[in-house]
Amino acid sequence: MSIVLHRDQGFLLENDEQIGLECPYCGVYSHMSPESVPDATDLLHHRPKHVGLVFRCDACQAPVFLRFAVKQYGEDQVELYRNFIELERPKERFAFAYLPKDTEVLFREALSCYSNNNFNAFASMCRRSASSAYHALGEGGRLRAFEEIIIAQDIAGIDDDTFAPVKKVLFDAEIEEELPMLNRSQAGILLEVLKDMLYQCFVRRGKLTRALKVRRFFVQGSNDDLQSTA
Ligand SMILES: [Zn+2]
Repeated sequence: MSIVLHRDQGFLLENDEQIGLECPYCGVYSHMSPESVPDATDLLHHRPKHVGLVFRCDACQAPVFLRFAVKQYGEDQVELYRNFIELERPKERFAFAYLPKDTEVLFREALSCYSNNNFNAFASMCRRSASSAYHALGEGGRLRAFEEIIIAQDIAGIDDDTFAPVKKVLFDAEIEEELPMLNRSQAGILLEVLKDMLYQCFVRRGKLTRALKVRRFFVQGSNDDLQSTA
């Protein structure tokens, strides 16, 4: 796919291809329509190394900003590299309301690091989030959490080598300096494993308790109704 800004024809994609990505606003994987595109004549005059384009998400109409590097300047057109940078990344979601207060604050910051591609800051915050979760779980909490991540490894079929950095971050690093350096794919695995662990340890129990409370409330309510009509 070549992406071109033409002096007369504006934004052009080869073979009528389209740009699609996960929208940072609505979270839908959507087609993006060019909305605000720099003038090629202007670019040919100033010759910047990067250009910014605004697209419109077809699902929610929100403006989405993308930055492209310039591949080459032609006579009447500017060709752009196809790998763009998303200036706003989709936010990672989680049922934060079920987490203990400190864990919630730390895990929100961890997810914010991840959304901004700061994967080693993310790893550090995962370690703090996990420590706070073990503390909140009380005696045996750390062991319980460990069992949950081993189950997750098994369910997802992650091999030991791939899983080692995740385990190290969550359980084995005694001090910050021992944390391994993470790349994007390792950070992605850590993210999903920690989400699953927090879900199993807090969210599942919270949701079930709340659902049972609501059931009891309705049973109670209908008993009162029966008594009142008797
Ligand atoms: Zn959208």
